[in-house]
Amino acid sequence: MDDCIFCKLANHQIPTSIVYEDDDFCAFKDANPQAPVHVLVVPKRHFANVADDVPTEVLGGLLKTAVKVAEICGIRDKGFRLIMNTGADAGQTVMHLHCHVLGGVDMGEGMLPR
Ligand code: 5GP
Ligand code: ZN
Repeated sequence: MDDCIFCKLANHQIPTSIVYEDDDFCAFKDANPQAPVHVLVVPKRHFANVADDVPTEVLGGLLKTAVKVAEICGIRDKGFRLIMNTGADAGQTVMHLHCHVLGGVDMGEGMLPR
């Protein structure tokens, strides 16, 4: 998609700090990290979010890639959190399907800030 920042990052039209990539997915560091490890995993193909009509292989590949990223970043065994913000109430700001990989700190048991 022409005007999508994550399409441009994932397809090397804009340089970024890439942690992992293959033919279908790209993982790069979040520009505004919320944890010591904060990486975004995106499909190279454009989808708005997980509620878009995303093929099962893409959803599976996205999660598999997120686990690979956790391994690369050294947080697979200690634990990590995957987040996919979807739509306005979830605070999705970039409308290209992405999965946040967060870790490197004890995030506790709650999922939302109190
Ligand atoms: P969302 O709120 O949509 O789930 O998250 C979008 C994320 O993308 C945010 O955490 C934000 O910091 C990150 N982000 C936005 N623009 C850029 C960018 O140009 N480069 C990188 N690396 N991250 C970005
Ligand atoms: Zn896109």
